[in-house]
Amino acid sequence: MKVFKFGGASLTGIDQIRNVAGIIRPFSGTELVVVVSAIGQTTNELEKVAIHYYRRQRETAARLLQNIKQSHLEIAEALLRDPEHAAIECMRRFFTEAEWRLGEKPYLPFDYYYDQLVSLGELLSSIIVSAYLKDEGIGNEWLDVRSVLRTDATYRDAQVDWPYSSQQMTEKVLPLLRQHGLLLTQGFIGSTAEGHTTTLGREGSDYTAALFTNMLNAESLTIWKDVEGLKNADPKLFADTISIREINYREVIEMAYYGARVIHPKTIKPLQNKKIPLYVKCFLDPELPGTVIHEGDHSRQLPPLIVLKQKQVLLTITSRDFSFITEDKISDIYDIFHGLNIHINLTQNGAISFSCCIEHDGEKIERLIKTLHRDFSVNYHEGLELLTIRHYQPELLESFTAGRTLLLEQRAPQTVQFVLK
Ligand code: ASP
Ligand code: MG
Repeated sequence: MKVFKFGGASLTGIDQIRNVAGIIRPFSGTELVVVVSAIGQTTNELEKVAIHYYRRQRETAARLLQNIKQSHLEIAEALLRDPEHAAIECMRRFFTEAEWRLGEKPYLPFDYYYDQLVSLGELLSSIIVSAYLKDEGIGNEWLDVRSVLRTDATYRDAQVDWPYSSQQMTEKVLPLLRQHGLLLTQGFIGSTAEGHTTTLGREGSDYTAALFTNMLNAESLTIWKDVEGLKNADPKLFADTISIREINYREVIEMAYYGARVIHPKTIKPLQNKKIPLYVKCFLDPELPGTVIHEGDHSRQLPPLIVLKQKQVLLTITSRDFSFITEDKISDIYDIFHGLNIHINLTQNGAISFSCCIEHDGEKIERLIKTLHRDFSVNYHEGLELLTIRHYQPELLESFTAGRTLLLEQRAPQTVQFVLK
């Protein structure tokens, strides 16, 4: 049994969905779970619907939803060639439900409405793909993931109820797989015990696929992407990147931790726990070898792994009376960051100062500085970059900092980090 995940970029339109069907076809008749995200940029569009709805700009929200409806129905009608197709009826029902929702006055927190509206993207894409596969003779069963993946009620960042969901996988999903071979389901979404839809956090479909893989003890997970596999750096930011054919879980977790946006960071753990390999393959050319992420020590053969985080701010926090920054003060500082839900990317302590690098998030930073100002003086630099290099070659480091202002540097045997202007 295998699990495949197709992201939004692989489902942007008619040709892309046909291509996905072509990738799945050879596995027809085998036990395969296919997890899909929303088509193209749908999640971003649905976010806008939720925001306008919550701001009581109902007409704008309705208009944006109408656009989403139109584009989805166009794709479905072109692929399914029958406007009366049961799948299209089903999509219409989902839209009616969402439209009706927009007519209600919001009285609960934003995140709740966000999840109810934004989850539509995955429901629609999975209905289209499932119906199209069937029409193409690739038998499959559409599974509403909300009937098996239970979460708590932390909307937009729902935490999975492992025991309950695992049990559902064994009791419901496995028999379905045995019966139908191919199951088609949604990434990113889940449900509370009360039946309210939740989402697992942006880009969460990889994680859903990893959950299925773990809970069903599948032999592997394949994430189909628009890149040929993992590279040692983001090709959009660096020239001459190197493809990585094989890498271990640990390195990918480290890369994700330092900010590489290759695979959703939560994806690796469920696979690593059961030592199940993760393949990253290119949907544009399935013949390409891609990357396998698995157990094993490959760090010796790895090229330097480079991660660049842009839009960074460096804060230098000093006590007002120039006293030492002792543990109690550091603990107070961390409390403030934690309270505002601001993640620290790098820290450095001095005798009377504490420096840290964080993401630029205008509104949050203002609040942070205001709060810190009660007890500390704060200096800050914005518009910076945080560059992390693992498995670096010391003699090559200079080329990364040449001509730049180096504001902070941290070096460990495996990893070096620079804050640069
Ligand atoms: N569609 C969701 C998002 O764009 C989930 C995903 O793509 O993984 O965040
Ligand atoms: Mg997406």
